[in-house]
Amino acid sequence: MSDNCLFCRIVRGEIPSRKVYEDDEVFAFHDINPVAPVHFMLIPKQHLVSLLDAEERHAALLGRMLLLAPRLARDQGLQDGFRTVINSGKGGGQEVFHLHIHVIGGGNIPPMVK
Ligand code: 5GP
Ligand code: ZN
Repeated sequence: MSDNCLFCRIVRGEIPSRKVYEDDEVFAFHDINPVAPVHFMLIPKQHLVSLLDAEERHAALLGRMLLLAPRLARDQGLQDGFRTVINSGKGGGQEVFHLHIHVIGGGNIPPMVK
């Protein structure tokens, strides 16, 4: 846990969020500024800055988060699919430095990479 980290504070309930899912290791909540009709984020409860800081010991946790994404997306009504985005580091456009997987869908999702 990191005292001043925004997402650690959300996990602790110090900052309110619209929760999508929670278990021992993972928390998911709606993005405050959605870019599509459905936009939530999956985060590890433990403070991990980004994929740049991920190590072998995080492999199972990251795998669990990826496998949760389709399940939660379906729960949120995204039957046709969804986009995942993980911004890593300043160079990757990351703004909140606690690793998160964006899950986005429900609208017109244009191809991102052509
Ligand atoms: P990043 O650019 O780091 O990948 O994404 C950070 C995301 O966190 C942004 O999409 C932003 O809208 C979202 N965000 C920032 N502050 C808050 C907050 O206080 N609550 C919630 N639910 N989302 C936030
Ligand atoms: Zn954190």
